[in-house]
Amino acid sequence: MHTTERKPRILIVDDDLAHFKMMRAVLKVEVYDIVCAHDLASANKLVLESLETNNRFDVALVDYYISEEERGDVFAHRLINIVGDIKVVIATSDFVTAAELTVDVDGKLIKTTDWLHSPDTLVEKLESLLEWKRKSHYSVSHQIKRWIATESMGLGLIDLTFLTAEIIGKKGKHGRIEKIIGTRQSDRRSVVTVVYPEHPGDEVIPISVHSTMGCTQRCKMCVHWHSHRDENGLVVPFIGPLTANEIVAQVYHSFNNSSRLLELFEGNKSKKTIKVNFTGEGDVLCDNLDNAATAIRRLSSIEYPWISSFTITSVGHADRLREYLDKYIDLPRVTHYWSANSLDPAKRDWLMPASKGQSLEELRDLHHEISVKTGRPVTTSFALFPGVNDRDEDVALTAEFFKDWLDVPIKLMPGCPGSLKGYRDITTAEVKAFQRKLFAAGLRNVRFRKIYGTSAYAGCGTTQPVFLVGLSKLGQRGVARRY
Ligand code: SF4
Repeated sequence: MHTTERKPRILIVDDDLAHFKMMRAVLKVEVYDIVCAHDLASANKLVLESLETNNRFDVALVDYYISEEERGDVFAHRLINIVGDIKVVIATSDFVTAAELTVDVDGKLIKTTDWLHSPDTLVEKLESLLEWKRKSHYSVSHQIKRWIATESMGLGLIDLTFLTAEIIGKKGKHGRIEKIIGTRQSDRRSVVTVVYPEHPGDEVIPISVHSTMGCTQRCKMCVHWHSHRDENGLVVPFIGPLTANEIVAQVYHSFNNSSRLLELFEGNKSKKTIKVNFTGEGDVLCDNLDNAATAIRRLSSIEYPWISSFTITSVGHADRLREYLDKYIDLPRVTHYWSANSLDPAKRDWLMPASKGQSLEELRDLHHEISVKTGRPVTTSFALFPGVNDRDEDVALTAEFFKDWLDVPIKLMPGCPGSLKGYRDITTAEVKAFQRKLFAAGLRNVRFRKIYGTSAYAGCGTTQPVFLVGLSKLGQRGVARRY
């Protein structure tokens, strides 16, 4: 029996009118306040209204097959995760589906047996759920913002249903790093979204996402394209591009799991914004431009939290850059980085073999065109290795190459320690010496960036070697080891 005057509010999400009518008959209107949504769009609207008016639903009965874009259990997961004080039951007519549900819900009902032939089961289930309360961790304003944010990302997160969300937080020299590991349902392979540490006083929290699994570029100093293995333990350099939904889902997953990102939804306390860097696995420009562009358009429509920029980092490819200029130059808030690494063609071919045959001058000019058209300068970056690309001839080549653009932004960083076999790690002093020589040669905008990579493993080529090696040793069973 209910002890308060308020009738329990039940949300039924089901496109089958017959089931809905049957439930209306079983669940007496004198006892329950029943609201029905026949599709996910109206269910989303009703949940948002319930948050805005603080007229919460106590229980949601959600049809597993409510939509082709977002399965009922994924919607249920969002309800529990964001709304908190709601209980969710998945309804299906299929025993196998019920047995295999991967999302942790509060109950399952088999439509034929539990509803049609034994209506008391439905009432009993509801009453038992109404007896307890799940505590909501978030304020109402927080819940509203998160609901709107996940709505704005678009539905269809089904493509990357994460089975695990292991969060590894580590307080490093530069602050707290969070790595959010999600395992793709279809093949149990993992993505690691990294929430970088912020510099003190920084208003931007950078996160690193993957654009592909594995990589086609096979850069010599990359430590992760050779980390994916098949079931026989053999290297699989490139698994494939991530879909737009999978890219969006990485960001969604980090919103739901990173304590620092969750804080951004809280009232107006934080003015911080997010920067989404395509610096995880893969060369987004060369290997997954269309899907990344779709993901950027969807993510840029989110208001809470505000994604202030997207970073596309690429080794560069003339045809892909032309395609970008033709089709995607209007993408909002995108900043480009060109990983040149060496302007000596032979050295560059050795370091980045997939880029062989590309004209460096053409890549430079196309990047310059992007800078002019977007008003956002393209940074040319060099990961330095001692004796490889920090020689005096590299200084001369760089100065000559950019002699007409002396203000071009150049970023220098130490190559990831241990990543280039046969070469020792470069020191900070050596990178700074190279920087001074470039200044002396006339270049005016050369900055030095310490890599987070040594502690965060979040840059292209350094994303997650520890984890992937760990995973491959474990046969990609979706279990990551801590470091
Ligand atoms: S460094 Fe980046 S572009 Fe090169 S192989 Fe690794 S992930 Fe691909």
